[in-house]
Amino acid sequence: MIVGSVLVADRYIKAVAGEDATKNSKGKIFEANFNANDIITIALKSDASRTELEEAYLEALHQLRKRHPGIKALSAGSCVSLKSCVTDDRNVTDPDLSGYGVISNNAMHASWEGANLYALSTKVFPEIADDIYVRADVSLAAMGEFYWRLKEKKLASFDEMHRYGNKDLTVLLRNITMSYVKLSADVNGAFIYNGNLFGGKNHPFLSLIRPRRMEQFVDAERKYIRDDFPGVCVFHRDCYSGLISVGALERRLSESQETRSLVELPSSHGVWGILAYYTAQLCMAIIATHVPSLIVLGGRLVKDQANPAWPKNDIIEKVRTRLAEEIKTKMPDYPELHRPDGFIQEAACQWPVLYGGLIFSIKHDGEISYLHNHHAG
Ligand SMILES: [Zn+2]
Repeated sequence: MIVGSVLVADRYIKAVAGEDATKNSKGKIFEANFNANDIITIALKSDASRTELEEAYLEALHQLRKRHPGIKALSAGSCVSLKSCVTDDRNVTDPDLSGYGVISNNAMHASWEGANLYALSTKVFPEIADDIYVRADVSLAAMGEFYWRLKEKKLASFDEMHRYGNKDLTVLLRNITMSYVKLSADVNGAFIYNGNLFGGKNHPFLSLIRPRRMEQFVDAERKYIRDDFPGVCVFHRDCYSGLISVGALERRLSESQETRSLVELPSSHGVWGILAYYTAQLCMAIIATHVPSLIVLGGRLVKDQANPAWPKNDIIEKVRTRLAEEIKTKMPDYPELHRPDGFIQEAACQWPVLYGGLIFSIKHDGEISYLHNHHAG
């Protein structure tokens, strides 16, 4: 089966098709094959209007359909917030009647509000309207990262493998919970439990949270500072995105008369200490609420796909160090926190949103859990 995946990012739209390569041994291991050279890219201007977005989106899908006429399901990931991504809200016969896949009032691209990614998708792929899904980019990224790691055997720590490895693979998966945090043009996170995306009533909005302000030594000169940066989020001012998104860090640089751009900064620059401080705090909130097996950091501030050597910020190491300081009591009953390969890891999948979209298209949102199916069957 051929499936499709499309990503609406801040400055471009990407689309790709892949082949279902799901393995069926002791429960389904969802897997897809795709060719990274086959990814379609349509650039967007930084101030692209809603019409320009819609035209670029349709263009990407038309090209995808032309190259891969047999697409049976499609998932779209959006970098901006959606009115709804609850599949049961979809109106297949009249997509304009529901808020499913409709871009909502958002901090990044206010002018995109009202663009209906679900309705646009059904225009290009009318015969699969039942099998088109729209989700937040971070949700698909979490999905992609989880199943990529499963395929590459990078998901579980040695201890977890040891504890559950001799049992049915489904037992291992049931005991792995992974959080994915996106550090990019905005900050958000999503959570995979039991091989499924945690859904709730809409996509996550981690950036609603206002972190505790940093007060510490940060830069090479060992100056003591309290972070009094006002924040750039148009909705919440000093939420996580307002303090550490790409735009926030760039604003911090310009306000401190720093002439170098983010990608030119060395690892010792104070701005990376700020990023690590708040990211560690966010990880603490995730630990407190979800106690995951693993937290994966992805997005442009972790690795810039356009410039793989940048940014040079050692963010993974810095967050690990900062987190260790936060968790003074080492939490002995939480062994995953001390897994030898690191509880905080960089995204292993190069295209987590696109890969996650392929997996989501194969897996189908309506399928409650392959574990349930497995036990039922
Ligand atoms: Zn905000």
